[in-house]
Amino acid sequence: MKFATKLLHGTSCFDPVTGAASTPIYQASTFHQADLDRPGAYDYARSGNPTRHALEEAIAVLEGGARGFAFASGMAAISSVFMLFSAGDHVVVAEDVYGGTYRFLTKVLSRMNIDVTFVDTTCVEAVERAVTPRTRGIYLETPSNPTLKVTDIAAVCHIAKAKNIIVIVDNTFLTPYYQRPLELGADIVIHSATKFIGGHSDVVAGLAVTKDAELGEQLYFIQNGMGAVLGAQDSWLVMRGLKSLKARLDVSTQTAEKIARWLANHPSVAKVHYTGLEGHPGHQLQSRQASGHGAVLSFDVGSRERAKALFDRVTLPIVAVSLGAVETILSYPAMMSHAAMPAAERERRGITDGLIRLSAGLEDADDLVRDLEQALEGVEAALSESKSKAFSGA
Ligand SMILES: *Cc1c(COP(=O)(O)O)cnc(C)c1O
Repeated sequence: MKFATKLLHGTSCFDPVTGAASTPIYQASTFHQADLDRPGAYDYARSGNPTRHALEEAIAVLEGGARGFAFASGMAAISSVFMLFSAGDHVVVAEDVYGGTYRFLTKVLSRMNIDVTFVDTTCVEAVERAVTPRTRGIYLETPSNPTLKVTDIAAVCHIAKAKNIIVIVDNTFLTPYYQRPLELGADIVIHSATKFIGGHSDVVAGLAVTKDAELGEQLYFIQNGMGAVLGAQDSWLVMRGLKSLKARLDVSTQTAEKIARWLANHPSVAKVHYTGLEGHPGHQLQSRQASGHGAVLSFDVGSRERAKALFDRVTLPIVAVSLGAVETILSYPAMMSHAAMPAAERERRGITDGLIRLSAGLEDADDLVRDLEQALEGVEAALSESKSKAFSGA
């Protein structure tokens, strides 16, 4: 079955009891046990709910894993997965991880005596150097946010396999449509389903998939024990979004590429980060390990003043944190996702004051380009006006 078909028919596409074309929302916290000696499939909804279970099976099939799990948010999925580790363990983590993951690791997990070393995972040798006899896990995010650095998943897994280290990949940016880390050797895949999988800016959710059943059993124990499960209504919303994932990503990716190429030729834009551009340092690796470049790009307009002037002038994209929605979203990493990072560290990572992230939605691509064009023209006009005022002493 090809991916598009799997999205709709990978698991049962109708309710086996009634034939309903959409999985019912089982709004129940507990389940009647007809025979105490023979417990039913469900007993209590933290431990299992049929609506959540349908989503968990769907994501497991799409990522090609043994077990899927749905959590109350991407961070709930991430923090629950880290509970697989114990005091004294060491984990190697990509230095470009999502800000919430960085905060959890440095402010919460550090109190549990689990040590983390952040490395530039695009350099496989750096990953290998960071591994110690206590290393139990390697955590990747590729492409990274917001400069889209690409890590070689198979190469990192190769290092890990030899040392019995589990590899975890945050696959939020590409989704299983474009990238399936388990097929490249990873052990666990994580998603913020709030982004492309949900896809409509209307639900906060997280997913995790384990490659094998044994690790799945361990993660199930943690999911049930910690209890950060996704509710039935939100599980239904995520499934509804998931059905159109391929159709949405096909359009959004095409639009992102068109915008990236247009921006790359624009005189007001200093730099464009998009793995679909041949000049991007991760272009070839990405083309090898993933089947698409996704809908997220970032570009540098040179300064905070210019970035701000652009945000003031765009009319179509919403200006917000988050990404992966039907509407195009512009965000400003320096003041949003990476505000907590010291300026020098931000600059070192290319997250400059002029950097803007764009997540392409489903609007007409030409309309989006026209909107960006008028906004960039307005920026130049406003800046040259304020400069001439400054010269004339006004
Ligand atoms: C948003 C995001 C998260 C966190 O997910 P939430 O659903 O907001 O908790 C984790 N990783 C990446 C790459 C994200 O973009």
